[in-house]
Amino acid sequence: MKLPPHLSTRDGHLWIGDHDTVALAARWGTPLYVTDEDRVCACYDAYRKALSCYYQDIKILFAAKANGNAAVLRALAGLGAGADVFSSGELHLALRAGMTPDTLLFNGSSKSPADLALAVARGVTVSVDSLDELHQLQAIAAQSGAIARIAFRVNPALEVPTHPKIATGLATSKFGIPHAQVPDAYRLALSCDYIRPVGIHCHIGSQILATDPFARAAEVMVLIAAEITDIGVDLAFIDLGGGLGIPYNHDSDPAPTPADYAAAVMPVFLEGIHTAGIAPQLWIEPGRSLVADSTVLLTRVNSVKQAHRTFANVDAGFNLLIRPAMYDAYHEIIAANKANEPNSACYTVTGPICESGDILAKDRPLPFLAAGDVLAVLDAGAYGFAMASQYNCRPRCPEVLIKGGHSALMRRGEVFDDITATMVDPPWHLRPS
Ligand SMILES: *Cc1c(COP(=O)(O)O)cnc(C)c1O
Repeated sequence: MKLPPHLSTRDGHLWIGDHDTVALAARWGTPLYVTDEDRVCACYDAYRKALSCYYQDIKILFAAKANGNAAVLRALAGLGAGADVFSSGELHLALRAGMTPDTLLFNGSSKSPADLALAVARGVTVSVDSLDELHQLQAIAAQSGAIARIAFRVNPALEVPTHPKIATGLATSKFGIPHAQVPDAYRLALSCDYIRPVGIHCHIGSQILATDPFARAAEVMVLIAAEITDIGVDLAFIDLGGGLGIPYNHDSDPAPTPADYAAAVMPVFLEGIHTAGIAPQLWIEPGRSLVADSTVLLTRVNSVKQAHRTFANVDAGFNLLIRPAMYDAYHEIIAANKANEPNSACYTVTGPICESGDILAKDRPLPFLAAGDVLAVLDAGAYGFAMASQYNCRPRCPEVLIKGGHSALMRRGEVFDDITATMVDPPWHLRPS
């Protein structure tokens, strides 16, 4: 199996950076998420370098929903990244991680009045998803006498090759304003006293393994940009969203890099803005492709069972990594303490959750396993811990960050008291004393 540069096998064990995953599992316990900060930074640098070969004025906004640990956001903030935030919580998180309001974009198809008020109060640009939202934002901004900076989220009506649950730019999608209504939306925005349209935004979907859909989206966006420039919008940025996929199957998935992305998108972008006679900043919003492969989920085998298949029952399930159950996603799995042993057996790797669908991997060639072995689930850094739950009353596991020779908790593991901490006894359940 092909490994990214920060993963290696040494002395029969899987290593991440300078750390033996088996030793990490012994030290911090399992299940355990381990993230390599240097790898996140290298992925960010790859994007920055690839884009700036073509155009200087770029901004990379990390999609905070992919990995919501403040330490990860802080590392990216240190490199100059901003964030795509999709909730008030993510907005607070990004500010806490040291990102400045001018590097954030507040996205979402269903923002509450409180969300809009927070964006206005903090001076964060809002990606407006409907005319109804525009009117609400205008009223909220008027109340505080502030000017709300906005972009409209455009629905470019593109078919993209990915799982239907993560295609977001289809004509039928809940996201964005239909392409044909966009110029009128900007006309309306220009007529609002407390609204300033400064950008235009799209995001066509996630885990896209071809670069052509991004080029087509860029084409649509620069055409619209030209059209709205003509009606008087002074575009400060064009945001092409995120969505570049990663090769979860290390041996068979195509793996477009940020350089491939840039080679497909940038000529279209440059020609489009040249034709329109504008020079806006280019924003992109990668999530998965910045963080997914930085992280392994370490999980220990509780038991093996020979039934109609051979099951390896492990201590992490869809409570900690829901992607296989939710998206039929494939994740490579390595027996971390038997990394040099031949894959002579075949296991279905199942979690501890009381659901038949709690399967991390089906019929996977692996070495012969026994209770106590440690498995590493690869590419778990995006939509992994971020989507974890306490289902089945299971405390969420710790997250460790490594950087060079250092390793430290970036989130402690929850304990049972964390699960009950927010529970309140209704008064009629309390006995009179
Ligand atoms: C989820 C999301 C992203 C990031 O998508 P990835 O596939 O993780 O790169 C970017 N922009 C918006 C608006 C999103 O909703």
